[in-house]
Amino acid sequence: MAGVAQPRWQQKVKYIMDVRLDVNTNKLTGKQQLHYTNHSPDTLYQLFYHLYWNAFQPNSMMDVRSRELGKNKIGNRADWDGRVRDRILNLKDNEIGYQRIKRLRIQGVAQSFSEQETILQVKLSKPVLPAQTVIIDLEFEAQVPVQIRRSGRDAANGVRYSMTQWYPKICEYDQDGWHPNPYIAREFYGVWGDYQVNITIDSSYLIGGTGNLQNAQQIGHGYQKPGLPVMTKPGKELTWKFMAPNVHDFAWAADPQFIHLTRQIKNGPEIHVIYKNKPGNLKNDSAWWKIAEAAEIVYPFIRERFGAYAYKQYTFIQGGDGGMEYPMATLINGPSLGTAFHEWMHSWYQMMLGTNESLYAWMDEGFTEFATDLVEHYYQSVLATRAGKKYEDNKLPAFHSANYDSYFDLAASGLEEPLTTHADHFNSNYAYSIASYSKGCVFITQLGYIIGEKMRDQLLLEYYKKWRFRHPRCSDFIRLAEEVSGLQLDWYQEYWVNGTKTIDYAIDSLWEEKGLSYVRIKRKGAMPMPIDIQLTFKNQTKEIHYIPMYLMFGEKPAEDSLARTTHPSWKWTDPFCTFTFKQRLTELTSVEIDATQRMADVDRRNNKIELKW
Ligand SMILES: [Zn+2]
Repeated sequence: MAGVAQPRWQQKVKYIMDVRLDVNTNKLTGKQQLHYTNHSPDTLYQLFYHLYWNAFQPNSMMDVRSRELGKNKIGNRADWDGRVRDRILNLKDNEIGYQRIKRLRIQGVAQSFSEQETILQVKLSKPVLPAQTVIIDLEFEAQVPVQIRRSGRDAANGVRYSMTQWYPKICEYDQDGWHPNPYIAREFYGVWGDYQVNITIDSSYLIGGTGNLQNAQQIGHGYQKPGLPVMTKPGKELTWKFMAPNVHDFAWAADPQFIHLTRQIKNGPEIHVIYKNKPGNLKNDSAWWKIAEAAEIVYPFIRERFGAYAYKQYTFIQGGDGGMEYPMATLINGPSLGTAFHEWMHSWYQMMLGTNESLYAWMDEGFTEFATDLVEHYYQSVLATRAGKKYEDNKLPAFHSANYDSYFDLAASGLEEPLTTHADHFNSNYAYSIASYSKGCVFITQLGYIIGEKMRDQLLLEYYKKWRFRHPRCSDFIRLAEEVSGLQLDWYQEYWVNGTKTIDYAIDSLWEEKGLSYVRIKRKGAMPMPIDIQLTFKNQTKEIHYIPMYLMFGEKPAEDSLARTTHPSWKWTDPFCTFTFKQRLTELTSVEIDATQRMADVDRRNNKIELKW
């Protein structure tokens, strides 16, 4: 057990941006003023920025990587992202994306800089000292690429502009230094701060995105307060003024045919749903309407289980090419409730708990998967209750089972790489996605087995309280789990996160000797775990025999109403462990290791023995 450590330092930004999007040329021009505060103890001699859209050019790293992965087969499918494929190679000059810096000044002094595809390197004429805030003024010009992945114009769903990763964005500098990750296709890491963004665009366009609209009465488009007049200035263009406090990114989308629904959640955010429709397609209208309604239904559950949503609004926007999360907003391809829940839960795992997704993709995708399963389960139970039906309250991990199954497939494939692999550097898209989504989800579900579910749930709330608006790492989470549970858990990180060793326990043998019954369990896999064994007797009674794991130096609380016997802890160096019980062996009808199936045992065929006497 360690004391409560002070959160570590982090850099701070304030962006003030004025941009104009020309809907005829698809060019974005603008000015950006960045107030950058160096909270590190280090003197900075250079700065790095992301220029993400430069990835959408033939032969960019993203293009080459996508085509190279496409040569690999996983089963009989090419291992590339079906949305990217070789499309970047075929972009014409007026279809590519770019972000070009025209001028960059710090405290009024011009700086030399070099664009290296998706990264801008700025060699400073004067270093930035610890505790110093500098003002960096830059002018930039960008071309919105044809939509390939996440950002772009004229997506397959018909949305004109999906404006994500659209501005020069300073890279994060933390205790490991700069993180100038080129944009290969994977996810993001940004600096916490405030955004003030003014967007000028053709007045027919409706914008949805990050931030709170400051001039709603001048804009209208469904943002105005009901009952008050909209005072739009006459002209062909409108300037939308947004403020977003305490976020690490800013995204938006725009289309002249967007439909806009709003719904205020009691003691929660205002929900916006923004989508396109063909006239008279009522089914599509009701599918989008359902997202707003579902958000209202599930929010009290989310707040209780994962902590309150910290911002005034959240917007579900049709755009992009699947589902992608941003602060206060998501771009989703269509009105899928599952996707909507998943993306909103990213507001917790990534938007408030801002992990470095390059290094800890599983801490946002895996935790989000876990939370999404719970939210969906809750939503289904409310619907069933409203319909007067009895809801099958499936025990864990029935509703996480798809993630367990995907992890088992990965573990058996020979393609698994440790969760510590940098997201861009996995050998295959397959290993990256199953590791981060499924093995990450199993990490948190299985932790409920290890420390007890109530403890795990309390831990998630403590994690929210302690690490929101910061950059938690795996070791921070593990350390907090130790503080909350009182159990030692570093071994869990070492095996589950840092390595690819697997869990396999088996019932080895049963016998009677001198009036006692014996059960011997064998550890066949390399990874050690604490063991729950359920004994079921002829008279229908069940009892739990718990064998703590030596490395934990403690035991989890009893989890349910079944009688539990705790045995001496199992030292992992011994492949066998034997325990006794007092009933006759002939009274026994079954013995089962982890009847709840929360432990990711790769071979469950040897976990249970049924006895017929
Ligand atoms: Zn996700």
